[in-house]
Amino acid sequence: MAVLEQLTSQQAIDLENKYGAHNYHPLPVVLSRGEGVFVWDVEGKKYYDFLSAYSAVNQGHCHPSIVGAMISQAQTLTLTSRAFYNDMLGKFEKYATETFKFDKLLPMNTGAEAVETAVKICRKWAYEKKGIPENQAKIIVCENNFHGRTTTIISFSNDPVARKNFGPYTQGFIKIEYDNLEALKIALQENDNVAGFLVEPIQGEAGVYVPSEGYLKAAKAICEEHNVLFIADEVQTGIARTGRLLATCGNCSCSDKHCSGAPDVKPDILILGKALSGGAYPVSAVLANNEIMDVIRPGNHGSTFGGNPIAAAVGIAALEVIKDEELASNAYKLGEIFRSELNKFITNCDLVNAVRGKGLLNAILINDTEDSSTAWDICIALSDNGLLAKPTHGNIIRFAPPLVMTEEQLMDCISIITRTLSEFKK
Ligand SMILES: *Cc1c(COP(=O)(O)O)cnc(C)c1O
Repeated sequence: MAVLEQLTSQQAIDLENKYGAHNYHPLPVVLSRGEGVFVWDVEGKKYYDFLSAYSAVNQGHCHPSIVGAMISQAQTLTLTSRAFYNDMLGKFEKYATETFKFDKLLPMNTGAEAVETAVKICRKWAYEKKGIPENQAKIIVCENNFHGRTTTIISFSNDPVARKNFGPYTQGFIKIEYDNLEALKIALQENDNVAGFLVEPIQGEAGVYVPSEGYLKAAKAICEEHNVLFIADEVQTGIARTGRLLATCGNCSCSDKHCSGAPDVKPDILILGKALSGGAYPVSAVLANNEIMDVIRPGNHGSTFGGNPIAAAVGIAALEVIKDEELASNAYKLGEIFRSELNKFITNCDLVNAVRGKGLLNAILINDTEDSSTAWDICIALSDNGLLAKPTHGNIIRFAPPLVMTEEQLMDCISIITRTLSEFKK
């Protein structure tokens, strides 16, 4: 067959299975087009996307402003490396730091790279500013975290599938229970040389675990007492997903009314990725103020593609869309409707134990064992009915549509979900 011939779904699946490494277990759906909240498979079947590429496509598929910025920059200048200045990076850095209220930004490409960058900045700050003896710095992390897939990051994961046979592991991490302030206090009392506390404001991959009210703010205060950097991994929760510009927000400059009253937790280091590009291109970043970011000097860290002109143009456009279309506000409003409708439904449904989440980052807990295939089978049934979602851990299904969804579309989706759950037979 010619390389670019139009394939059937089965042909495309067979090609990936034969020629690609088997490092994912996708739903058997082959997508070839996307627009807004919709994607289409190669046979032309239309679906609501309820994963949004793990919250990278918050602005909707192929958003014309983002695609427009990308095309126009791609026709002008794509990559210079950081051996030279380019005329786009500074604009992006100014726009993003003003948006998120930090002094400086360090641009990378993927989420995992940005987490690695944050770990390095935190360690260097510990030695040069806090005075921790060389090679002794420790970073506290949470159980069931997800921060990416590099060797260092999986060193502090407790997911056996992500870890096993990838050792030896990177030292210097202490794991504590998530959403447990006492555990954080004890870890800080029992360990010298703690440099940072790395946390997801909501644990997305673990199954959309929303911590107790006030947890993040109290954790930040405890970190301050001990001169420990509070590092927020908002790769999944950030950029309006949870109904605010950031899940740690309260201090952002977006005009959304739901921002002002929110708990105000200002991380020392903020990690962004995924929707920072609206899914058009890999763009990630670490933000911090000068007293922290200034520990990074020429040669300490870098990336050939990090901060390239296309990424910068796409990043600006992606953030503009969030502001212009008030997507935080929309995510907040639709999230309230989603949870309230599904909560009503599950009172009469044995199949679902609970609905939880914030904004448009939600999950349902299926009433079955973790190793059962029920959640997977429900996702197959949902896809037959025109809605794509994916189980996270075992019996949990995450629901995270693009934030450009309308209320009418959401009601349509809720009816697909409740109908599928009602008809579902194990
Ligand atoms: C997706 C994700 C990452 C990793 O991002 P990649 O771009 O896949 O490397 C890191 N942290 C969190 C919280 C994520 O959801």
